Amino acid sequence: MKCRICKGKAEIYLPQYNLALCREHYIEFFLRRVKKAVKDFKMFSREDRILVAVSGGKDSLSLWDALHSLGYNTAGFFLDLGINGHSARSRERVEKFAEERGLPLKIEELERVFGMTLPEITKRLREPACKLCGRLKRYYMEQAAKDYDVIATGHNMDDEVAFLMGNVFNWKEEYLAHQSPVLPAEHGFSRKVKPLIYLSERETAAYAFMRGIDYYDERCPLSRGATSIFYKNIMRQMELGMMGIRFRFLKGFYSIQDRFKSEDRETPSPCKVCGYPTTAGGLCSVCRMKIRLGLLPEDLLEDSSGKG
Ligand code: SF4
Ligand code: ZN
Ligand code: ZN
Repeated sequence: MKCRICKGKAEIYLPQYNLALCREHYIEFFLRRVKKAVKDFKMFSREDRILVAVSGGKDSLSLWDALHSLGYNTAGFFLDLGINGHSARSRERVEKFAEERGLPLKIEELERVFGMTLPEITKRLREPACKLCGRLKRYYMEQAAKDYDVIATGHNMDDEVAFLMGNVFNWKEEYLAHQSPVLPAEHGFSRKVKPLIYLSERETAAYAFMRGIDYYDERCPLSRGATSIFYKNIMRQMELGMMGIRFRFLKGFYSIQDRFKSEDRETPSPCKVCGYPTTAGGLCSVCRMKIRLGLLPEDLLEDSSGKG
């Protein structure tokens, strides 16, 4: 197969676009898709300081690489969760990536900032690791983003479609109203963007490979039967018979999403201990977690009510 642009040897075929490309032109294609998402959703400008949430995996490192290649002002943020072996190996890849490109990297250790590692927290609270992990990552990411204009995450099209399917099948209206490639800075939260929204998991993996990104590819030992994998497999099956269905599903959703928005959404207020925005009634979910683990005094709960 030949590259449609230069007629050199093609390295990838993109069925959705009936397009075969060589390495050089595939990298150009990928960067154009990132640029288009940034422009279509007005994610950020050249002047903005972007904090990229990195895990060491292909998506977040490809995102960082692409934004840096496009000339944006970026720094990375990595939260070391203290997951035996897994976190250290992920961290090594992130550090190597940043060092090779001379890019600034902020690293925070959960054990230092929270007082415990994720495996310890999960064991003590007996709750699903991913639920706790998601809350902690969002919390420490916000803290790290104080000197930045925007937080960028490496969610790709497959991630977004899987999330959307989960929200539709369970009719989670509140999530449907706010699932977006751009969340504005409001109520004390930073602006958040997903510039890989127009690129599939396969396309992102191909970019990482062609750019020679040394990413970490092992599954997190704490992940248990994530439903997102199930949804992704269904969508891939559908894509085989209905080319482009993932993209149409997602784009179609964004065009009608306003119908799910309602005025009576609760406005967050600052947590009385740490100041993090919360709708959980006085104390944010991370401070509540600390109380349950004996890392903060229990009497803080006394005049707080709410969901936790
Ligand atoms: Fe956290 Fe779950 Fe991802 Fe592991 S799989 S890093 S526990 S969200
Ligand atoms: Zn070419
Ligand atoms: Zn708090």
